[in-house]
Amino acid sequence: MATPHVPLTLYRARLLNQPDLYRITMDQGKIHTVEPDPSCPPGVLDIQHAPIRETLPAALDVKGRLVIPGMVDAHMHLDKALTLPYAQNPSGTLEGAIQSFGQIRPRLTPEDVVRRFRLMAETVVAHGTTSIRSHLDFTTASTFLPLLQALAAVIDEWHDRLDVQLVVMAPRDNPPEFVDALAAGAARYLTAIGGAPHLASDPNTNLTWITSLAQKWGLGLDLHVDEQLNPAAKTLGWLAHWLTKNTVEHLPVIAGHVVSIGTMPPEEASALIQTVAEVPLGVVTCPATNLYLQGRHDTVNVRRGLTRIREWLAAGVPVAIASDNIQDPFNPFGRGDLLEMALLAGYAAHLGAAEADTLLAMITEIPGQLLGLSPYGVVPGSIADVVVLDAHSALEALQWQSPARWVFKRGRLVASRALVQHWYGMRPETDLFESPHAPL
Ligand SMILES: [Zn+2]
Repeated sequence: MATPHVPLTLYRARLLNQPDLYRITMDQGKIHTVEPDPSCPPGVLDIQHAPIRETLPAALDVKGRLVIPGMVDAHMHLDKALTLPYAQNPSGTLEGAIQSFGQIRPRLTPEDVVRRFRLMAETVVAHGTTSIRSHLDFTTASTFLPLLQALAAVIDEWHDRLDVQLVVMAPRDNPPEFVDALAAGAARYLTAIGGAPHLASDPNTNLTWITSLAQKWGLGLDLHVDEQLNPAAKTLGWLAHWLTKNTVEHLPVIAGHVVSIGTMPPEEASALIQTVAEVPLGVVTCPATNLYLQGRHDTVNVRRGLTRIREWLAAGVPVAIASDNIQDPFNPFGRGDLLEMALLAGYAAHLGAAEADTLLAMITEIPGQLLGLSPYGVVPGSIADVVVLDAHSALEALQWQSPARWVFKRGRLVASRALVQHWYGMRPETDLFESPHAPL
């Protein structure tokens, strides 16, 4: 049952790239107004003292902290997350990870997936993520529907804290039982159909099958695209060409990873980027898994495996940064913190201080729009999902990773975290929020 929404005002909020402070009002789960206002009425509670387990006041003073849209993780794998104890990957390759997870997949029960879902939901929300999209491996016709039903129940339970979209990964060999599962009711739980056609023995046949199923069932498309360094992987070109003549629900179509374009000759890559820029397609880059899984066979100058983020952005193609796998055979690390992923993308894709605002947009507004949450942002009319960070700017948020965060879902404070640091025998001078602005 939905929790009743009460109006809330945030005073002295700092917005990205704005010199002024703002007053933000939220009501009925939406952002109502965002207006310049440097003042704060007396008696308004400092957000650092927001009470736990008590009715929240109708106003909070964020004291000049940065307020960003709730983070949106556009590409996760909640059925795989936290399975590392059961499925290791000694080779560290994508193939090794797929094989390792394939061995435990038949043993996964809905109860186990739901248990790990709850753990992941808690950690992602506590870090400031308010919406996610998770891919799910297709299991069998008889086991997939019960899995979806169990997930739908727990997703409903989390509705006041986290929005979740589900995407099924269509198998690579076009089995009739996948079609049967969609017909048996699976389609109604899904936002999109995915898959990894570049790994199929016949990628074009697999793509034709997947796209036709998406059209038939009124679903979107969210594919793992060319997740390998071999420039011969060209399913992106097929998809872009298909989109010049066809369409699906939930546009844009999403292409995850898009690795092989990074190893194509610049002229070929540039032509492909121009083709993609003319169709409704967005890119989701997953820096953690690309860095971990790609380039394993390189012996010198090990490649990073990320897509051409700068070129995509320059061509006007939206690019989001996502977590992908967390503590499973595909990625032994990760904690569902998109600020950390933005930092990784900054390192891996040579995006620095000048692109800090862009990096932050790539974990907030851009994935929000890709997932159809428009309008999405700290703007009137948007869903009132916002995060208050212990920072004055995007750059500071990336530099210090904002240990303290306050997470609002549909206008309600749902989680916060803080830095707890004790010093013995001395009084520290550092304050992560105040010190960076001390004058030289
Ligand atoms: Zn993935």
